[in-house]
Amino acid sequence: MKLICIGRNYTAHIEELENERPKDPVVFIKADSAVLPKEQDFYLPPFSNNVHHEVELLVKITKVGKHIAKEFAHKYYDEVSLGIDFTARDVQDELKSKGLPWEKAKSFDGSAVIGKWVSKSNYNDLNQLSFSLKKNNEVVQSASSELMLWKIDELISYVSQFFTLKKGDIIFSGTPSGVGKVEAGDVLEGFIENESFFKVSVK
Ligand code: MG
Repeated sequence: MKLICIGRNYTAHIEELENERPKDPVVFIKADSAVLPKEQDFYLPPFSNNVHHEVELLVKITKVGKHIAKEFAHKYYDEVSLGIDFTARDVQDELKSKGLPWEKAKSFDGSAVIGKWVSKSNYNDLNQLSFSLKKNNEVVQSASSELMLWKIDELISYVSQFFTLKKGDIIFSGTPSGVGKVEAGDVLEGFIENESFFKVSVK
């Protein structure tokens, strides 16, 4: 199973990190060992002093596909969820400045929080889903999937040009603005509309 992650998919987030607006989606992969086991606490890794939360909408791939056309992409997922792409921002900044790959900053153990899965049929329009992240009960990130530069179906079509998608693969569709540092003792809870999808304690 692989986690295919999209970077820079929301304009306001591109601006907050002073990144360049990409011509194509920015894509990276987290290893399956990055998944934080259900109900477990997130332990801050010793190699970073600046781990950021990035809340993201997720979809789970249900069958094998390659070169999937955008019009057919919806046939490749049935469920949606919400998760966190934890990012060691200090490590990432250093790697970025040297033009090196991001894995140490993005794919470390526990860096992928995956919430509960629900049927996409629960929602009228996946391109108009509101979602948010609360840190210690205060909203720190809040957005709608409407603001994505590339929507879910476009992302699936795009990434499937490079990687064969397999049953169980998960797409992390990018984070909106409001990313920030987490500290030991923080509690992070993610919501799609008003429903809680995960709750994680930072240690
Ligand atoms: Mg991200």
